[in-house]
Amino acid sequence: MAYRLLLVEDEVGIRVALEDRLLAAGYQVVTASDGTEAFTRATQGGLDLIILDLVLPGKGGLEVCHELRRMGIDTPVLMLTAKAQLKDKLEGFSMGADDYLTKPFDVAELLARTKALLRRSTAWNEARANQVYEFGNLRLDTKQTTVWLSGKRLDLSMKEYDLLHYFVTHPRETLSRDELLKEVWKYEDRPPTRTVDVHVGWLRKKIEDDTKNPRWIRTIYGIGYQFVAQ
Ligand code: CA
Repeated sequence: MAYRLLLVEDEVGIRVALEDRLLAAGYQVVTASDGTEAFTRATQGGLDLIILDLVLPGKGGLEVCHELRRMGIDTPVLMLTAKAQLKDKLEGFSMGADDYLTKPFDVAELLARTKALLRRSTAWNEARANQVYEFGNLRLDTKQTTVWLSGKRLDLSMKEYDLLHYFVTHPRETLSRDELLKEVWKYEDRPPTRTVDVHVGWLRKKIEDDTKNPRWIRTIYGIGYQFVAQ
């Protein structure tokens, strides 16, 4: 899936030219022409990077950046600043910008910085995805893709692991068979099989003390299943 960028620039000529180049490079681009609009759009989420001009009407780039960070929004920010405002670059970093470019800049340079920032944040997000989930005596390690029950390593098939992983990352949610087929088996249309029920049955045999009275994976009658975090 293409990365989605927010481009914030009040000078229409520059904005349109940059948007064209970013689109040509294969990015999805959302634009904003002032700080308030930029802030609103950024808080709606779904962005991989914000290219933010420093001098904007209304709320300035630094202010937007600062407010986003204060709200815990950590989308990477590439700040654009005129050479005369270079002294602001340090301030930009303390406000949470991840990189900066001074105007006038070469668009190739902007594309290179954009790519580098996206690569860095993707690597960071992947590292964060290496997690251990622990519920009572049940432990799932995503880095090693292994599951332990009371310290004993379980022998799960790949699908059983994927299914349990989906359960532990969606605790207390009622998960329909359709959702599980779509998310774990990647089926778009529900095939006429009892795949989910069969796999839940196998998983229960491995993690439940009493499969007739399951402690971890509850059946939600007529809908699907629910992982009970405890
Ligand atoms: Ca400007």
